Amino acid sequence: DLQLSSRVQAIKPSPTLAVTNKAAELRAAGQDIIGLGAGEPDFDTPEHIKVAAIEAIRNGQTKYTAVDGTPALKKAIIAKFKRDNGLEYEANQILVSSGGKQSFFNLALAILNPGDEVIIPAPYWVSYPDMVLVAEGKPVILETSAETRFKITAQQLEQAITERTRLFVINSPSNPSGMAYSLDELKALGEVLKRHPHVMVATDDMYEPILWTGKPFCNILNACPELYDRTFVLNGVSKAYSMTGWRIGYAAGPARVIGAMKKIQSQSTSNPCSISQAAAAAALEGDQTCVGEMVKAFRERHDWLVSALNELPGVACLRGDGTFYVFPSFQGAIEATDGVGTDVELAEKLLSDAGVALVPGSAFGAPGHMRLSFATSMENLEKAVARLRNALA
Ligand code: PLP
Repeated sequence: DLQLSSRVQAIKPSPTLAVTNKAAELRAAGQDIIGLGAGEPDFDTPEHIKVAAIEAIRNGQTKYTAVDGTPALKKAIIAKFKRDNGLEYEANQILVSSGGKQSFFNLALAILNPGDEVIIPAPYWVSYPDMVLVAEGKPVILETSAETRFKITAQQLEQAITERTRLFVINSPSNPSGMAYSLDELKALGEVLKRHPHVMVATDDMYEPILWTGKPFCNILNACPELYDRTFVLNGVSKAYSMTGWRIGYAAGPARVIGAMKKIQSQSTSNPCSISQAAAAAALEGDQTCVGEMVKAFRERHDWLVSALNELPGVACLRGDGTFYVFPSFQGAIEATDGVGTDVELAEKLLSDAGVALVPGSAFGAPGHMRLSFATSMENLEKAVARLRNALA
């Protein structure tokens, strides 16, 4: 027998990609499937970003770069942090990686020893717990509900911290809930973290600009600057600039750990794609109008979809603060559907009977819910809701 490591046996393939694949399979078999599972914007990458990449190819920027990113991209990232977030970083505090996913993976491998605990609020991005497991850490999941708009309280955080806690992860606005923490909520969490200096913090700001709270974006460092020496800000160009295929993410934080993350990257994947780095610099430094246009479309779809979902029997959906996901409860629908007892079973039924692909909430640690992505046309959304209405009637 070919033996597999206990490390790989501890994890599962990404469930969101699994739904996308299943939908693609059915489509290939001739079925008419509407996919609301996608974790990526449906817009094309803006033209000026593509042009920068083409120029990079023509200029011969087709070789290895520095492992941690080109000086030009790091400069653009440092300027972005200053301009958008009021945060100051030096070049040795920045690591560019092949997507936000690799940034978090590097961080987990750089700081976790076997059994170290990582506090992850649910519903969570599906990859956090599994990446912690690969690093032989222990995910500690904090449950939330619609009552707190899927956000944890300071008291919950306080109660979860132990001597073994190494890292607290916060993602706002959140995939999958779409909710963002307010400055005051972040301050309350910051007060708890100030009392526990052994806990590092990762703020995943991947959806930063896709926000409609009417207030400026803020993360935990804005709320609690005292955490600067132990906080990692993770961000990237994938969602903001519709660049998921280019694979560029970046991390900023204390130089010692960033250096350790760089060492891991140097012995695994080396530098992220040189051409994508040139494109990412153009995205961060160029005209930001393209971002506003995408956000406007997402918001219009969000507003329509939330009302439409709330008219379905057994479905209850809160308005989100941003991202391109909503995370309604389907609990009533699950209870009302014969032969269905869980969100996973309902999602399977909706895919086979109604031809609508949704991701069940259990994938994100919140059973009874579904994640619907509205990174698709209004026409698709309208069709999908009509099909759901039929299926749930
Ligand atoms: N963080 C969050 C919360 C995400 O939803 C995603 C993508 O789904 C990522 C990070 C990683 O993005 P990428 O690796 O595509 O840059």
